[in-house]
Amino acid sequence: MRWTCPFCDHKVFIDKANYYESVSTLLIENKHGRRQLTTAWIVCPNDTCKEYSLFTILHAQVWSPQATKWLQGELLQTWPLVPQSSAKVFPEYVPLGVREDYNEACAIRNLSPKASATLARRCLQGMIRNFYGVSKRTLFDEIEAIKDKVDPMTWASIDATRKIGNIGAHMEKDINVIVDVDSKEAQVLINLIEILIKDWYINRHDREEMLKSVVSIAEEKTEMKKAKPTE
Ligand SMILES: [Zn+2]
Repeated sequence: MRWTCPFCDHKVFIDKANYYESVSTLLIENKHGRRQLTTAWIVCPNDTCKEYSLFTILHAQVWSPQATKWLQGELLQTWPLVPQSSAKVFPEYVPLGVREDYNEACAIRNLSPKASATLARRCLQGMIRNFYGVSKRTLFDEIEAIKDKVDPMTWASIDATRKIGNIGAHMEKDINVIVDVDSKEAQVLINLIEILIKDWYINRHDREEMLKSVVSIAEEKTEMKKAKPTE
């Protein structure tokens, strides 16, 4: 099966070599009927990643007279254990506060979209303040203030996001005002945060690493010239 690793974000192919599951069945008489819990491990086959993901899946079991055995029934619930939510795992050079708000926004998206969107908004605000040093009364004003600073593609995704549903209204309100948004709108904000973390922090870091390697190669060359024996 095709699968996107939550750690490295690579689309990878998962087969028996990197997938393992075990099943535990609830056989004790209870008011709900038979239940089966599958624990599944996936190890990312990407050589530079090799992280494992772990989750559990709860199914009902139904008796099949045709097969004369118990079969897996309705899917009841899944719990991601590692990583703990659908949140992507961002590197440590992304500011801790940004990562924490982002992770929490992901974790409670379905449970409380309003709280999730509020955290997402705080996360966006934190990123803009941290990365551009801009601080205004509302997130809406802050976004306007960086319009000429961000690249046009990034701006297009910011602009498109705030036109969806109540998100624009959400951005214009004070950070403490809770605006009603649904879980899809909350997810759109989370997606925007993911795009911006990549566009800002990860791209800047990659560029710095590339420049460092260019500089170190240049230094090596100079050292080699110096070390050249003269006859
Ligand atoms: Zn991976």
